[in-house]
Amino acid sequence: MIRCSKCILPEDFPNIQFDNKGICNYCHAWDGKWKQFDYNKSEQELVSIIDAAKAKKRRYDCLIPYSGGRDSSYVVYLCKNKYKLNPLLVTFNNLFMSAYAMENIHSMAQRLGVDHVMFTYRPDIIKRFYSAMVRNGGEFCSVCATGINHVRVLYQRIYNIPLIISGTSSRVDEQSPLEINSTHPAYVRKVLIKSGFSVHDIDSFVLKRQNEFSTLERVRMKMFGNDYTTINLPDFIPWNNQEIQRVLEEELGWKTPDRHKDHIDCKFAPIKYYLKNRQIPHFIFTQEKYSQLIRDGQMTREDALKSWGKMLETEGNEPSELEEFLCFLDLQRQDLERSRGLSHLDYISKKDIESKESRVYKALSYLWKLYRRM
Ligand SMILES: [Zn+2]
Repeated sequence: MIRCSKCILPEDFPNIQFDNKGICNYCHAWDGKWKQFDYNKSEQELVSIIDAAKAKKRRYDCLIPYSGGRDSSYVVYLCKNKYKLNPLLVTFNNLFMSAYAMENIHSMAQRLGVDHVMFTYRPDIIKRFYSAMVRNGGEFCSVCATGINHVRVLYQRIYNIPLIISGTSSRVDEQSPLEINSTHPAYVRKVLIKSGFSVHDIDSFVLKRQNEFSTLERVRMKMFGNDYTTINLPDFIPWNNQEIQRVLEEELGWKTPDRHKDHIDCKFAPIKYYLKNRQIPHFIFTQEKYSQLIRDGQMTREDALKSWGKMLETEGNEPSELEEFLCFLDLQRQDLERSRGLSHLDYISKKDIESKESRVYKALSYLWKLYRRM
């Protein structure tokens, strides 16, 4: 198997090409965006986005989707202490949260001194959505992603919050191409329709993402003053792991999880990897994350290959949580067998998920900007 000589992506990775030094196009794209990144300029841009949100003088300046993880906790810390924003934290209860994650979410919200909502959508329906996605899509993470979008959209609307700030980083987090993974609403809707859910049940939960809004909806939101901006904070400022760890431990009393004992975030995470391996054999999800860390100088290629190899050895082994997972979602082993080989690509193509930003909307937003400046 040929791999990129810089990161660890393999030759069968979707759309990969190597140059004459064996370096892949994903590494080149990363360098193009991040190598000479001007943080001074981007922080100025960030401050102007923040000032615009504060100037609206709403009950909350921003909404932060809060998982209780390191990155989102650090986002809250910076928003509150450095940028002096008044945030509302929202957490989607995916029903799979580990005890560690639950405890951490509550204690962090308290220490950070901010308003926090833990939102639970009807568990009976959510469980049926999960089972349907496993049976007909071969995975279940898209339900959780849909839920996170649901709480964002819902609470943005309730309080008319002008800014959504998340902790996802396109610099160091994996950016899976469509061939590998998707949680897109168009895909989720199609699987749920096939599974026999009513349009009412689906539409109540699967809300549009911001880039799915039609031109008319966007114009209407702008006109009535309830449009909003979404940003990823790590794309504007340096995101230094050591500094994040220091702040969390020293200033927020963060309890660093014991990786052997604590399920960090989702107690069924090992099943996500197990199911993905059945869709794409010998595909180890973390190779994308590791490749990002190598590009950013936070991991060596040797270390990445070593732990990747270890994971490959256990590929296909049944996770110890499987029985509990099946029982919780009322699934049978035959359901898993039948879902082998299913993929999101059976339901959606690149064309289905292209952003619907039309020329009309672009022209109107340009005129709007000019009008606001006058
Ligand atoms: Zn590469």
